[in-house]
Amino acid sequence: MEECIFCKIIKGEIPSFKVYEDDKAFAFEDINPISQGHTLVIPKRHAQDLWEIPEDDLAAVHHASRKIIQAIRDALNPTGVACLQLNGRAVNQVVMHYHLHLIPRASGEPELPVSSWELKQGDMEAIKETAEKIAAAIR
Ligand code: AMP
Ligand code: ZN
Repeated sequence: MEECIFCKIIKGEIPSFKVYEDDKAFAFEDINPISQGHTLVIPKRHAQDLWEIPEDDLAAVHHASRKIIQAIRDALNPTGVACLQLNGRAVNQVVMHYHLHLIPRASGEPELPVSSWELKQGDMEAIKETAEKIAAAIR
């Protein structure tokens, strides 16, 4: 496998500001934080994205993420925490090792760009057709 930067972080070959670790999940601070406490939660076993990650690692990452946002709430008292996870370079996934961003918003800070898009009602017929298409493809 290509040298993966997050695999190197897990192995301790690259330093990180670790906040949590268990047998399947690992969490550390993002070094380009959108806000104070911006944390990344990753599986220890390499998987690229939500299509690829095995169920047990996915569950472990999300189980860990809840523990961590409880700690973020106790430590930083944010007004909310956005969870963001990108799949594919087309949506700006840069590190190709599954990761969940935990992004707190502090009181008095501006809205997070990731959570403040404009709501515009869609075409109900088109939404219905898309829903049917996806539902029919569920395996
Ligand atoms: P993305 O793939 O766009 O969801 O985001 C990758 C994230 O990883 C970015 O927010 C980077 O700031 C972060 N990142 C990249 N390298 C490191 C590193 N060595 N330590 C901590 N965070 C990193
Ligand atoms: Zn990796």
